[in-house]
Amino acid sequence: MATIKALEGRTVHQIQSGQVIVDLCSVVKELVENSLDAGATSIDIRFKNNGLDSIEVQDNGSGIVSENYQTIALKHYTSKLSSYDDLSSLQTFGFRGEALSSLCALSKFHVTTARADEAPKGTRLDFEVSGQLKSTQVVASQKGTTVAVEDLFVSLPVRRRELEKNIKREYGKVLGILQACACISTQARISVSNVMAKGKRAVIFATKSNQTTRENIATVFGTKALPALVAMNLSFELQPTKTQEPASNSEPTFGEGRQAPDRQMFFVNSRPCGLPQVAKIFNEVYKAYNASQSPFIFANLSLDTNAYDVNVSPDKRTILLHDQTSLLESIRVSLTALFEKQDQTVPQSQKS
Ligand code: ADP
Ligand code: MG
Repeated sequence: MATIKALEGRTVHQIQSGQVIVDLCSVVKELVENSLDAGATSIDIRFKNNGLDSIEVQDNGSGIVSENYQTIALKHYTSKLSSYDDLSSLQTFGFRGEALSSLCALSKFHVTTARADEAPKGTRLDFEVSGQLKSTQVVASQKGTTVAVEDLFVSLPVRRRELEKNIKREYGKVLGILQACACISTQARISVSNVMAKGKRAVIFATKSNQTTRENIATVFGTKALPALVAMNLSFELQPTKTQEPASNSEPTFGEGRQAPDRQMFFVNSRPCGLPQVAKIFNEVYKAYNASQSPFIFANLSLDTNAYDVNVSPDKRTILLHDQTSLLESIRVSLTALFEKQDQTVPQSQKS
């Protein structure tokens, strides 16, 4: 039998990084979340070649203090969490201190940052694959932080090839995530642009700051979406949970009855997340009243921070709802009541 021995540090780092940064979506999600955690009111996400060449996220947030330059890209170094107990009252998106360190291991990566008292001068930070700070250089920079990721997965050839093969689909998924982020982030303007090889930069969408979610939805998806969008404030008797402003509709929104899962967005306390069980309930109840169409859903569950767990997977995409069964049942009951009420007001001839 082969001898058991410890993996080399560099190998462990690569293996773990690949679990944090799984795909293009993880990169964008982690970087935008960092910008929001830094209090940004303006975030620009710029892709080159659908993200295959580079992804750049620029914010006007707090910037990074020079004392932290050495540690920001080290594994498990974070300014957001100090003990495990803090997790139950977490107010930030980040807490694992792994995103920047993983990006160092998986791409060509650098950061430019300036605090308010430093701008218009800032500092460019370059890192070793290990996340150790390699060099700093004074550069021109507005207040905030820009993170640039080039050649994603350059160190994982198999995954790089997969990315190249599926880049259009990946990019489409990323836009779905960014649309959700842009709609929920009422405090920040978010713009997304892409430049194809040697082409011009195309703005995909750009929201403004200090808008309502409804205004953001109109900016991102077009005003056609609005008339059919019904705002709902469902409150549940669950302790200690309630649902806030899920908007759905029992009338055609984008019509044609095609599945539009990218137009179904779920959040827990404004954290975008996949909630397949919750999505299933929404769709099931909706189908009973309108079988020919798929609803546009924008649902933000307001939950007590100790009613769920975000520390389920390294990429933080999965959320564990502690009392899922009763939450789902409450959603079903409330939605059914709402649709029944609406159904009585819709003339028989208009029903599908
Ligand atoms: P986490 O977000 O879990 O703390 P990251 O690896 O994403 O871990 O980031 C490491 C640290 O770098 C953060 O805790 C934060 O202090 C700093 N940082 C990252 N991105 C930004 C940003 N855009 N603006 C200000 N500080 C940032
Ligand atoms: Mg982070």
